[in-house]
Amino acid sequence: MKDVSTDDLEQRLPLVARKDRPPTLVRVGDAVFGGKEVPVIAGPCAVESLEQTIDIAEHVKVSGASLLRGGAFKPLTFPYRSESTFELREVGLQYLSEAGAKAGLPTVTEVMDPRLVSVAASYADMLQIGARNMQNFPLLEEVAGTGKPILLKRHFGCSLRDWLGAAEYLLFHGNSNVVLCERGVVAPHTHQPTSRFIVDLQAVPALHELTHLPVIVDPSHATFRREYVEPVALAAVAVGADGLLIDVHPVPEKAAVDPLQALSFPAFGALSEKARQVAAAIGR
Ligand code: PEP
Ligand code: MN
Repeated sequence: MKDVSTDDLEQRLPLVARKDRPPTLVRVGDAVFGGKEVPVIAGPCAVESLEQTIDIAEHVKVSGASLLRGGAFKPLTFPYRSESTFELREVGLQYLSEAGAKAGLPTVTEVMDPRLVSVAASYADMLQIGARNMQNFPLLEEVAGTGKPILLKRHFGCSLRDWLGAAEYLLFHGNSNVVLCERGVVAPHTHQPTSRFIVDLQAVPALHELTHLPVIVDPSHATFRREYVEPVALAAVAVGADGLLIDVHPVPEKAAVDPLQALSFPAFGALSEKARQVAAAIGR
């Protein structure tokens, strides 16, 4: 069994441990994670404008997406902001929520600062803990307290034991509406143009064995290359992922954040259709 022992499951992870529990179904609007469906979360890396977010929402909805994503607060590597690289902050939360309402999609957005959790929760239907904050325990407690469903991304340097420990904090603080998201981990040969991170696909069946929580895969932030997003997404569905998270932008190469990985509307439509076929092939 990976790095999680039987003792861990009994003593340290009693709330997230699978035991003989049925899979937890996490509902966000009409989307259900953890059941037979494979919901797709789609949208821009960063919210850029109201018109553009509505355009994206309407297109991804037509292609079958179940949730609209978009960052209003971004964990950018460098502190500099410009006309082409920016965060809209609270106004971005408003745009995301308006676009979701217009297209009939629930929304998910990242929250990084415990002081901003309540404002984010007042706009979004699901809150994302980004990879960099997976073990920010005060943030986890604050987000759990909102009662909103939570998307808990895996830190790129953390084991399944660390990740499940972070999820245990959320359940310990009273919130069991948790969806785990594999988004790639570092390995000796990563941070190359062909492999920024390595998607740990084996984590999906391993987590299904260890925990009752649903687990989805984000091939966009893992691969960082739009050419690789579809094949890795299809592989994720094939290994049993309970959903996907895909960056989508009307003009991908002009995206304010992560322009190398976003998919165009037609590319997202093609991926969605193939993902449905792979899901059907494995009985979902
Ligand atoms: C994101 O989803 O926009 C993001 C920053 O992802 P991660 O935390 O996985 O890097
Ligand atoms: Mn991004």
